[in-house]
Amino acid sequence: MSQKNEILQMLKDEITDVEYNRYIKQLKFDEKSHTDEYALFIAPNILISNYIKSKYSEKIATLFEIKTGIKPNVEISTTSKKLKTKKTRDSVKSSEKVQHSLLNPSHTFENFVVGGSNQFAYTAAKKVSEDFGTSYNPLFIYGGVGLGKTHLMQAIGNIAQQKGKSVVFTSVEQFLNDFTRHIRNKTMELFRDKYRKCDVLLVDDIQFLSGKESLQEEFFNTFESLRNSDKLIVLTADKKPKQIALLAERLQSRFEWGLITDIQPPELETKIEIIRKKSEINRVQIDNDVINYIATIIENNTREIEGILTKLKMYSQMVNCEITIEFAKNALKDQIREKKESVTIETIMQMVSRELNIKQSEIKSKSRTRNIVYARRIAIYLSRTFTQNSMPQLALYFGMKDHTAVSHTMKTINKLLESDADFKLKIDELKNKIS
Ligand code: ADP
Ligand code: MG
Repeated sequence: MSQKNEILQMLKDEITDVEYNRYIKQLKFDEKSHTDEYALFIAPNILISNYIKSKYSEKIATLFEIKTGIKPNVEISTTSKKLKTKKTRDSVKSSEKVQHSLLNPSHTFENFVVGGSNQFAYTAAKKVSEDFGTSYNPLFIYGGVGLGKTHLMQAIGNIAQQKGKSVVFTSVEQFLNDFTRHIRNKTMELFRDKYRKCDVLLVDDIQFLSGKESLQEEFFNTFESLRNSDKLIVLTADKKPKQIALLAERLQSRFEWGLITDIQPPELETKIEIIRKKSEINRVQIDNDVINYIATIIENNTREIEGILTKLKMYSQMVNCEITIEFAKNALKDQIREKKESVTIETIMQMVSRELNIKQSEIKSKSRTRNIVYARRIAIYLSRTFTQNSMPQLALYFGMKDHTAVSHTMKTINKLLESDADFKLKIDELKNKIS
């Protein structure tokens, strides 16, 4: 089997058959341009290309890395590098006609774990998928990255498609690309056909309309036209309409006409359930211990889950052993190390202050009181170990004379760690709290 086939085969084991057959199977590998650092896959059209790019290019790169040890730059494109031919207008048009929207088929209500953090958004989404906007229109879902906004929005789209409705799922970027292309080609009637003649319009991450005046104008007209013919509009954003800067007043107010609902970061139990669900969907065999462990290492962004599960599955297949908790800890070492690199002095200060019961202002003061000096030294040591700050930066932060004072502190602590077992225990405990 060629390397590329092996990679796609590995990917196949991980994703649903529908997803594989619908999208991945259509990829062609560009042998000619392939190097260790570069892999190009050709997709049949721009929509599939964009979809695979956003969803799988990172995963494909990781699979290459697992296979060859080198993580290449993975590109998904509609044309081969060597012979970039200009597409005819007709071929673009026809591919768009068949594939108006590309919804992830596994983004369903059944696959969505409901908890306190997303209960309201879920119920609202469910409702509009039943009555298509007679209750609320538009539905506006907002919240932080990776909390399930796109998932819920696509769940509505999937139901609508099953019921024979025409659905357009788009991003502001795609909307903008279409808009400029159709203006350039003088084919605005096609643009309007696409966006105004659908039954359901789903626009993801609408905050990117910010500051784009002519696009807002066009979107406003699209919105009005759809609302006037009672078509459903669903929008997601990272913040409330009112908080989106440089967004025309009339759009802001229209976004508030229907229902606005937020999604909060998941509680631990919800997180655990999401991991369980994802491991089922991706067919990764892990027990409760491992699931709980993963829940403690990821933060609120549920997007990390799929990457983690991919890694665990691949490694366990490579060495042909089960995913035990030790195995998981070992396989995810790098992941946790990267996290450490994002630790800031502020988090360390908060933790040291809390654990040793010394005020942050005291730690940063020039006080020579014994327990304050003790806390200060530990804070400096941990900051130097866990953050990317240089010694001069730390000297500045802790109000010390210069970097030699920091270096002196590091030496003192290192000596203590060697000679004093109790002290080492205390430091280890604090280190664990950080990671
Ligand atoms: P957002 O659009 O809010 O950034 P996504 O909808 O892309 O987040 O979600 C990121 C990933 O996490 C997706 O794989 C999604 O399926 C999953 N996810 C998020 N919330 C849930 C949930 N409550 N139940 C199941 N999967 C979830
Ligand atoms: Mg999203």
